[in-house]
Amino acid sequence: SFEVVEDKPEDLVDRAPIVTVMGHVDHGKTSLLDYIRKENVIAGESGGITQHIGAYGVQLENGQKIAFLDTPGHEAFTAMRARGAQVTDIAIIVAAADDDIMPQTKEAISHAQAAGVPIVFAINKIDKPDANPEKVKEGLANMNLLVEDWGGKIQSHDISAKMGTGVKELLEKVLLEAELLELKANPNKAAQGTVVEAFLDKGRGYVSTILVQAGTLKIGDYVLAGKNSGKVKAMQDERGNDVAEAGPSTPVSILGLDGAPQAGDKFNVFEDEREAKQIATKRTQLQREQSVRTQRH
Ligand code: GDP
Repeated sequence: SFEVVEDKPEDLVDRAPIVTVMGHVDHGKTSLLDYIRKENVIAGESGGITQHIGAYGVQLENGQKIAFLDTPGHEAFTAMRARGAQVTDIAIIVAAADDDIMPQTKEAISHAQAAGVPIVFAINKIDKPDANPEKVKEGLANMNLLVEDWGGKIQSHDISAKMGTGVKELLEKVLLEAELLELKANPNKAAQGTVVEAFLDKGRGYVSTILVQAGTLKIGDYVLAGKNSGKVKAMQDERGNDVAEAGPSTPVSILGLDGAPQAGDKFNVFEDEREAKQIATKRTQLQREQSVRTQRH
């Protein structure tokens, strides 16, 4: 089994924040994620990120990194939370400046608050002639959410996801928020983390995008993820480049699992392949029994 060993303070190093984008439908979540994915250029690499692997990492000009869950909406967040996975460190909540505070905006706020995840507001579509960012901030103030320029402590930034206006500054605010959280992890142990998405690729077999949260995942490691297991045969980053290792807060897609685990499944690395397989089999049995029981009732 995997021992639960407390990390010593001296083993902990800073890690990048993991960020989810939420907000009301059509307020610009996809546009923001797309803009960041396409425009952010990692030092020494040209061109944007073309792969859709459910999560991606970006590096700002100052070298600081952010990992994004590339699934707009609450689905990823709630699916993962329902499975007991807490991956998000910070939530960007997008609210369109030409609209009111909408039901899904409120829902996103409650989700983040319930999870104890700090919010950074992105007041979007400020390029539109009828945009009124102050009205959105007033709406937030009426919900007891005071953003900084309304005398409060919550970060917000006016942006246009379409034009890219203010996106860099928004990400800087996300990093400021991250600094306050003092996010750390021990990279020098067996990897553990959460599955973001998985699918069957005709040529390559099961491809699972996972987010390493602690430790370092290496090629050849034996992984158990939910009901699936297997030896990591290959790993790729969001640019489709092969990587040999993935440390904390790194999203990576892996090949080698014997099936597609579910979003929110935790993964661990096992020394003993047999033991991992036994647990996977046990989990499959348990689930079968449960579904038989629910069918009967
Ligand atoms: P989502 O449902 O929250 O993911 O929203 P989308 O990103 O799909 O955006 C919904 C619509 O708003 C699309 O037609 C976008 O082109 C448009 N949109 C998103 N951001 C902006 C923006 O900053 N300015 C303008 N003018 N339109 C935007």
